[in-house]
Amino acid sequence: MQTTQAFPSKLPNVGTTIFTVMSKLAADTGALNLSQGYPNFNTDPVLIELVAKAMRDGHNQYAPMPGVPVLREAIAQKTARCYNVAYNPETEITVTTGATEAIYAAITTVVQPDRSAGPDEVIVFEPAYDSYVPAIELSGGKPVFVSLDAPGSAIDWNVVRGKITDRTRLIIVNTPHNPTGYVWTTDDLNQLADLVQKHNLFVISDEVYEHLIFDERVHHSLMQHPLLRERTFVVGSFGKTFHTTGWKIGYCLAPTDLTAEFRKVHQFVTFSVSTPMQYALAEYLRNPAPYEALPAFYQRKRDLFLQSIHHSRFQFVPSEGTFFQNVSYAGITSEPDYDLAVRLTRDIGVASIPVSVFYHDRTDHKTLRFCFAKDDETLVQAGERLTRWSLNQ
Ligand code: PMP
Ligand code: GLN
Repeated sequence: MQTTQAFPSKLPNVGTTIFTVMSKLAADTGALNLSQGYPNFNTDPVLIELVAKAMRDGHNQYAPMPGVPVLREAIAQKTARCYNVAYNPETEITVTTGATEAIYAAITTVVQPDRSAGPDEVIVFEPAYDSYVPAIELSGGKPVFVSLDAPGSAIDWNVVRGKITDRTRLIIVNTPHNPTGYVWTTDDLNQLADLVQKHNLFVISDEVYEHLIFDERVHHSLMQHPLLRERTFVVGSFGKTFHTTGWKIGYCLAPTDLTAEFRKVHQFVTFSVSTPMQYALAEYLRNPAPYEALPAFYQRKRDLFLQSIHHSRFQFVPSEGTFFQNVSYAGITSEPDYDLAVRLTRDIGVASIPVSVFYHDRTDHKTLRFCFAKDDETLVQAGERLTRWSLNQ
């Protein structure tokens, strides 16, 4: 139809996300799907029953715009328990349609197209989760990229400082980091706080993998730094924490003045979030055991996957956090990572994500990302197939 051709795109460089593309290819070819990040096992039946109960109890109409009060209260208590930081459920906590909406709304809240004779600039660490840049562009902002050159390597703060201009308005942080697994250190927090103070910046901290952290590491939430707490939108999601990525329930923690502006956007992006799920999560959150068990649960899965590719020709450093493991195939073939991901899905029935899609210029470090949120049999089978393939090259 003519209309689409003549219609100017607001996101001319965006296609269907790689996660959709690879999951569809995996489904079409019957491959083991270690691409898109979601568990292939079910959530706790206790949580499912709590949703059914909330529905039976009549919690089936619009929730209040910022989220049901009992859930906001439960999030405040969990946050205090985990990080010893207080947020006021009335004025500083908003329940959102997944972390994706919280990130979109926070970017929309802060970024302006022409605040100081040009677009606001937003520092984005690459490789970067795919929703950040389109959201910045839709607000008329300009992404400024800081590349973590070897995926998984530490942040070079001299490089970050060199990218700050008088238009820099926002920095987007993701810890633990998708796709590298990098976990921010207290030194990273201190370096960031210095910059934020000096240049009057805001921060969005995407902490959806807060409980997926390994080898006795500790998640340092940005809220724990007093200065950052006052300038940061901390974003969480129950999708990763309770194996419910399809529920799309997340939240945003931010100081009162930021939350007031954030809610103005949130209420017109989605207004409010699924009511029975919110009641169920509020009740379920009373018990810390399910989220406290996550580091050990996922560390075992990571190790099972790594064990199963131990004798392969792939190279890897064990992931520090998230449910992703990056694997280098540089020693096996020089093929582009996208082509290899498609080929492995078709030829050996193992789907992954090519890490180049997390870079605006498609930097190809010959690295594939595998999601290990899978049952043990799938992980072992995938590992065996990958090992066999690598030894035959
Ligand atoms: N941020 C990161 C880093 C993610 O990996 C994801 C999705 N897996 C999200 C945000 C989106 O979370 P949600 O599904 O809660 O929208
Ligand atoms: N965050 C998930 C991943 O990185 C995917 C989420 C999505 O499909 N949008 O795989």
